[in-house]
Amino acid sequence: MTSRRRLLAGLAVAPLVATGARAAEPDVIVVGAGFAGLAAARELTRRGRRVRVLEARDRLGGRAHTAALAGAPVDMGAAWIHGIDGNPLAALAREAGLRWHETDFDRRALFEGSERLTAVELRAVDALRTGALARFDAARRRLPPDTDAGLVATLLGWPELERASPRVRQALRFELHSEIALEWAADLDALSLRAIDEGENPRGAHVMPVGGYRGLIDALAEGLEVRRSSPVLAIRVRDDDVELRTTQGTLAARGVVLAVPLGVLEAGDIALEPSPGRRAREAIAALTMGRMNRIALRFPRRFWPEGIARFAEIGPGFDGPLEWFDLTPTAGAPVLAALASGRRANLIESEDDAAVAALARADLERMFGAVPEPTAVLVSRWGRDAFARGAYSRRLPGDHGDVRAALAEPIAGRLVLAGEHVDTAAPGTTHGAYRSGIAAARRLDKALG
Ligand SMILES: Cc1cc2nc3c(=O)[nH]c(=O)nc-3n(C[C@H](O)[C@H](O)[C@H](O)COP(=O)(O)OP(=O)(O)OC[C@H]3O[C@@H](n4cnc5c(N)ncnc54)[C@H](O)[C@@H]3O)c2cc1C
Repeated sequence: MTSRRRLLAGLAVAPLVATGARAAEPDVIVVGAGFAGLAAARELTRRGRRVRVLEARDRLGGRAHTAALAGAPVDMGAAWIHGIDGNPLAALAREAGLRWHETDFDRRALFEGSERLTAVELRAVDALRTGALARFDAARRRLPPDTDAGLVATLLGWPELERASPRVRQALRFELHSEIALEWAADLDALSLRAIDEGENPRGAHVMPVGGYRGLIDALAEGLEVRRSSPVLAIRVRDDDVELRTTQGTLAARGVVLAVPLGVLEAGDIALEPSPGRRAREAIAALTMGRMNRIALRFPRRFWPEGIARFAEIGPGFDGPLEWFDLTPTAGAPVLAALASGRRANLIESEDDAAVAALARADLERMFGAVPEPTAVLVSRWGRDAFARGAYSRRLPGDHGDVRAALAEPIAGRLVLAGEHVDTAAPGTTHGAYRSGIAAARRLDKALG
């Protein structure tokens, strides 16, 4: 992985360095160096365009961020490649010679306090879960497409459930939270049937790149000209070109791919002229950024069970549970990471690291008794991150039509949006962001002629 070493070496001397050398002025500018922006820049370059990427942060990758936890690589945003069959990022990882570790979500341990649920109880939970999902499917077929139903009521209100033990019921609630609420970065009761029905089911294994997502980002950025620490403040589409105002000065290009998060568009952080058309404005209003955060803890030694991909304490009284994942195989050190969504994720945003670590440790101690002091802690706060403004997009309740397709339409013939929020098949994922970048590049290339 020489490309990564080159990138890091460059970073050390100058934060505004480009990853590739290009003297000529660009004819296309891509704003945002996440998966969408980097994919767009690569595709436009492949099509013979001179491309420059402007990135607000001093690093690439956006919501894919591999941080160092006392030297161990840990992803604080995206961690999995969801479904490797037909996934362009799996192909990219293979091409770059990256290794990955498969997560088998069925290999789990659920605890009520320190009592681990038995195999019999887990089978009962799974049977109810299948029932709940079948009810969801039936409800989806029965209801007109614009109907939004409270998910909890739809999924959890049926007679078989009443006969299950309180512990199995609680575990079912947790598994639905894990499968649905965590996936959409919200609380179960905030999600509509329509919202969770978006996108296609991933095919194949869910894997985590060994050493984190950074290897993929580096592979994608190889040879591209990227200006870091260059937040774009305003974009004006004129008759013959596009003017961009950044904190580093003003630039012009024939066309622009705007690959910043939905939250940044919602907040109006970049002044757009002309503003997006009615359909795009309605689409932005019909989507919202979910909340999800990660707490990563490095320990001096492992104290949790071997061979378990995930575990959780599901006792009553949680306000949005923490779900723990064993990251040892990809971090190369004893590391646990907890995911929290919705209210619990919001809570994390308002606490400092010490308070979050104490909360996480207390959760672990409910399951395992006294646990060692972590040697390092990292906490994400994506909602408070000015260049993300949340975790990823989801539909708000209501019938808003095909909102993501509306976002893909070029603005004034020279400006095209990209990002996970624009992809219809896999919104909220890295491969969705990547696909939207490729699609935006093609659209802009065609529009510019
Ligand atoms: C906690 C968490 C866990 C996740 N887990 C997974 C997972 O396991 N698998 C998965 O597939 N997906 C996961 N996701 C979602 C995934 O991270 C995103 O869908 C994807 O990374 C979005 O890519 P993007 O290119 O659309 O946006 P981003 O990655 O956010 O890129 C946008 C870029 O624009 C830049 N920018 C913002 N404002 C400006 C400006 N004014 N000027 C210039 N640049 C600007 C940002 O700094 C950023 O680099 C997770 C997300 C979170 C938060």
